[in-house]
Amino acid sequence: MDNLDDQLAGDPLLGVALDTLAIRAGQTRSHEGEHSEALYLTSSYVFGSAQEAAERFSGAQPGNVYSRYTNPTVRMFEERIAALEGAEAAVGTSSGMAAILATCIALLKSGDHILCSRSVFGTTTVMFTKYLQKFGVTTSFVNPTNYAEWEAGFTPNTKLVFVETPSNPLCDVVDMQRLADMTHAHGALLVVDNCFCTPALQQPLKFGADLIIHSATKYIDGQGRCLGGVVAGAKALVDEVLGFIRSAGPSMSPFNAWVFLKGLETLRLRMEAHSRNALELAQWLDAHPRVEKVFYAGLPSHVGHDLAVKQQSAFGGVLSFSVKGGREEAWQVIDATRIMSLTANLGDTKTTIVHPATTTHGRLTSEQKAEAGITENLIRIAVGLEDIGDLKADLVRGLGSY
Ligand SMILES: *Cc1c(COP(=O)(O)O)cnc(C)c1O
Repeated sequence: MDNLDDQLAGDPLLGVALDTLAIRAGQTRSHEGEHSEALYLTSSYVFGSAQEAAERFSGAQPGNVYSRYTNPTVRMFEERIAALEGAEAAVGTSSGMAAILATCIALLKSGDHILCSRSVFGTTTVMFTKYLQKFGVTTSFVNPTNYAEWEAGFTPNTKLVFVETPSNPLCDVVDMQRLADMTHAHGALLVVDNCFCTPALQQPLKFGADLIIHSATKYIDGQGRCLGGVVAGAKALVDEVLGFIRSAGPSMSPFNAWVFLKGLETLRLRMEAHSRNALELAQWLDAHPRVEKVFYAGLPSHVGHDLAVKQQSAFGGVLSFSVKGGREEAWQVIDATRIMSLTANLGDTKTTIVHPATTTHGRLTSEQKAEAGITENLIRIAVGLEDIGDLKADLVRGLGSY
């Protein structure tokens, strides 16, 4: 009897599958009984009495005070993300970059060192080298799949290891467990930017990561509407990050949190559809006479294929390929498209196409580009959810024959 009571009183989502969590986790209902999550567009909250106000401010009583600290819609989003990543806690931020900045400021101090994959989002590199550097935090960069380079990169002051897997734009896959073991042996924390896979395809905490970062702007929204970010992991770490966000202000907008909650409900369906389209396009490009090489971990010929199979449930929506020729030939293919959007953004139902060497990676010196494999004939496509036949036809305009 006791057992049954416990079961009925317990969390109904305990042990349910990811698809159920993506739709149900974190939701609280108001006295109105709304079915869809409520959107609490309010900057502040009122208190029942002076005593209650005093207790809320002092923290003696839990509850909302001001939306820079907490907001019920944002809270629902945070709890849903935590459930999907298998994390104890999560905190929303105003953008993906704000999530990275908040993590660094909260957990690092002057004199500390970040060891970072060379293949991370360009603005992350700028933040680390141009801005954190000003406050005495140094960063060094390594080839993400060269573990001897990782090992050699640690210093006694290394506090944080930062990586994206699969990487942009060449889809290098990093062995997270191996990197986590190395990181922990040096007493540092492993932070994984899980933007490309989302928890629908990959849960880095299972492979030893300490913190997950997302740009919710990408696949979590999924339709290119809102900016947002999130940090997820152990409660003690997330609380540190939350402390900075409350004080500094890069909090998530409740409106954006509401859009992201709706995005999460279809996350798995979308990620599987993005992956299916990308795999078919990669295979087709791989066989095309005017294509030199395709970079997509879903292809068995990709060096990271086996590891991707181990770490991910599908290969994601981003692929790159080099055309025979140079910049001119690559630009021809890009300029001939009529359906794909020429933009560097990704994580949208709309397919995007970009020339990394002159846009996303344009700031790199030619040496850095060569080192990172960003050649002049390289094109990146973030494959959306349009009909795959139409996407192939769009590339044929510039590539020529089928
Ligand atoms: C876009 C992106 C970011 C930054 O996110 P914003 O929401 O644009 O601030 C960080 N990491 C990766 C991998 C991204 O693609």
